Amino acid sequence: MDIILLGPPGAGKGTQSARLVDHHQMRQLSTGDMLRAAVAAQTPVGLEAKAVMDRGELVSDEIVSALIDAELTAMGAGVGAIFDGYPRTEAQAVALDEILRNHGRELDHVVELAVDEDALVDRITGRFTCAKCGEGYHERHKQPEVAGVCDKCGSSEFKHRPDDNEETVRKRMQEYRAKTAPILPYYEARDIVTRVDGMASIDEVAQQIDAILS
Ligand code: AMP
Repeated sequence: MDIILLGPPGAGKGTQSARLVDHHQMRQLSTGDMLRAAVAAQTPVGLEAKAVMDRGELVSDEIVSALIDAELTAMGAGVGAIFDGYPRTEAQAVALDEILRNHGRELDHVVELAVDEDALVDRITGRFTCAKCGEGYHERHKQPEVAGVCDKCGSSEFKHRPDDNEETVRKRMQEYRAKTAPILPYYEARDIVTRVDGMASIDEVAQQIDAILS
């Protein structure tokens, strides 16, 4: 089963992807994570993408679609894909259809995480992750059980994304409204979109997504 989690920054796409990976035979394909890895490794793609990401703008369609294509090739058949943060433009949505066709796959569901944008700034500016295993935390809503120690892997190193500041978050939301939300009708025409209340608790959102996938 291949699905897209669609929603503005901070809607919970990464959190819900991580749960799906743990509970189902699925793999998260996050173009944001791939780009951050490219930036850290200082690859040509990373060097090109860094300034764009720091401004909260979108990296070129060609770069992200090539990253997705390469990941699907590496992944092979038999494992479901969760597209997280991709596609973000209509050109990417069209490219994804072709990439999936070339891999003998097809989209089953688009899950739209509907959220209140004002709450997102609070969610995003407080979030941080374990530097070792990537487990997500929040300064106000989800601290590690033991302060400074990751619940999942025990590491004491954490990181905060450089683009999770208020100014960049607002720009990323503007990009979502202008370029990503308009791709919903592309999928609605195929009747594969389900809207989920992304302001509900993490467990409730997970239940809603499980109901869609079952
Ligand atoms: P994310 O982790 O999904 O919030 O992505 C972080 C940043 O990476 C975005 O603000 C964009 O600059 C870039 N990015 C991630 N995915 C894409 C995509 N599908 N298309 C264009 N830019 C992307």
